[in-house]
Amino acid sequence: MSDLHIYNSLSRQKEKFEAINPPYVGLYCCGPTVYSDVHLGNTRTFISFDLVYRYLKHLGYNVRYVRNITDAGHLTNDQGEGKNRMEDQAKLEKLEPMEIVQKYTVGFHEVCRLFNLLPPTIEPTATGHIVEQIEMTQKLIDNGVAYESNGSVYFDVKAYNDKGNNYGILSGRNIDELIAGYRDLDGQEEKRNSVDFALWKKASPEHIMQWSSPWSSGFPGWHLECSVMSTKYLGKQFDIHAGGMDLKFPHHECEIAQNVGACGNTPVRYWMHTNMLNFNGQKMSKSLGNSILPMEFVTGNHPLLDKPYSAMTVRFLFMQSHYSSELDITIKGLQDAEKGLRKLMNAAKYLSEIKFDSITVEEKQDKIISDLCAECKVVMDDDFNAPKLIAVLHELATLINIYYNDGKKINNISDSTFNLLQTTYNAYLFDVLGLQDEVATGNNDALDKVMQLVIDIRKQSRENKDWTTSDKIRDALKEANINIKDGKDGTTYEIG
Ligand code: AMP
Ligand code: ZN
Repeated sequence: MSDLHIYNSLSRQKEKFEAINPPYVGLYCCGPTVYSDVHLGNTRTFISFDLVYRYLKHLGYNVRYVRNITDAGHLTNDQGEGKNRMEDQAKLEKLEPMEIVQKYTVGFHEVCRLFNLLPPTIEPTATGHIVEQIEMTQKLIDNGVAYESNGSVYFDVKAYNDKGNNYGILSGRNIDELIAGYRDLDGQEEKRNSVDFALWKKASPEHIMQWSSPWSSGFPGWHLECSVMSTKYLGKQFDIHAGGMDLKFPHHECEIAQNVGACGNTPVRYWMHTNMLNFNGQKMSKSLGNSILPMEFVTGNHPLLDKPYSAMTVRFLFMQSHYSSELDITIKGLQDAEKGLRKLMNAAKYLSEIKFDSITVEEKQDKIISDLCAECKVVMDDDFNAPKLIAVLHELATLINIYYNDGKKINNISDSTFNLLQTTYNAYLFDVLGLQDEVATGNNDALDKVMQLVIDIRKQSRENKDWTTSDKIRDALKEANINIKDGKDGTTYEIG
């Protein structure tokens, strides 16, 4: 069905993508922990996998895209110890934990809409799958890779490895070193080994979020929810599991161990990990206190920013670097992204206005355009290379601009190549990259009417030799980043 190749973090190499059950593809992405607003770093990861989802759909796959909501606690320490984030935030905001969950889930969805993310086909919550998490925990105990201790249940990493498995297969970690590293952490006394992680935690009486289970009234471990929900909706083995690089260990390593321990096979064919969004050279994160909220970009209300930047500018900036590379947010990067996005959007508008007027087909030009169209697929098939795709679209946009400025007509390529150009350009810009023309999607009608009025006043003032008014209009439009062009058919405007 395709020549798609994906860098698989498990094999540490690029592999040809073969769907387990084509045309169906199962895609799972670890979703947000909804105890506070998602920051721009989280958003980068979700945008990267939106691109993956969109491209798989573009290739014709029937994708079941599962992205969960972590709402059952998610302890502050990855080994399943520490404080419960949802409860802590509930106490801080004087709300019920489920009000915290609702508030930040709604906020997350607003961010998704703002950045034009397609909704997943299933968005399961951890609290909605407590029964299944208890069942998987019981199965792991029955299979000899988990044990109960003082009302809590832990995954027995050594027993798992003794059965011929490899805890560390994904991250390359060695368990002896891990055991040494975890020695000093709190809450180790219940465990057989410090590397063991919680599947079920007994709750103390003051704990608000707790459920009954065969072992204690308590709550499930964070790693377990993703194993349970991916297996429930995508099966014991599915195609792609996605998440940020910071989740590779221990979260994804534990997921693999749980699935192998419970179901007897490795759950995922292709593991994909996105790289981090940095700010001032450091990973953007809530705990480091250097996170920026998506809305702060849109309003411009942040000390880093010189002005507001639209959601599509930020999305475009993200697309300009490969998902596996680190990305640093800079003002220069945002300014360049704003210009680049405008050029591609203007070309899309011109392309819809250009008329096909074929006189003589020039083989060379025809081939240049059809080759560039084919190149869009080639670069995306190479591990979703959006930056290279943008470079190809820029080349096409330059050619479109030439046709547009030359009487808005195309006269030297075949009509099938012209159709190919239109469908390819629009499909990759809008459907695959998920970009939107914010001018067109905003209140364009109103802007068009106002601009027509401005253009008329300018024309009138020039006819009356009222240079003060016409200069004032010119300067104000320049300030607003709006260019007006006087052509044979009248005056038009464009942004940027
Ligand atoms: P969390 O809500 O902390 O579980 O994070 C949700 C998703 O955002 C996970 O896939 C993380 O790997 C990802 N993430 C967190 N910080 C960053 C960052 N600075 N850049 C990119 N992705 C991130
Ligand atoms: Zn997960």
